[in-house]
Amino acid sequence: MAKPNKKGPTKTVDIFCAKCRTQLFKYRKGGKGALIKCFKERISVDFTETPCTCPKCQTVFAREMLIRGTPALKMIGGKVSC
Ligand SMILES: [Zn+2]
Repeated sequence: MAKPNKKGPTKTVDIFCAKCRTQLFKYRKGGKGALIKCFKERISVDFTETPCTCPKCQTVFAREMLIRGTPALKMIGGKVSC
């Protein structure tokens, strides 16, 4: 399936655990507004040890899912900030 933007977003945002402020990853975010879902292929640096889990306080901040066949993370509301 063709992607809407071939180059993809180049702006990188830092995603933090909302509870303990540990950095979870760097993400090439497209569009504006709150981060609701992340495509795994756009995560440029991943600081987590267990998928979707904060390495420090063990908060589960997202759920793995497929969006149009692409592996992605759906963020749990209020668990992350950027
Ligand atoms: Zn945490």
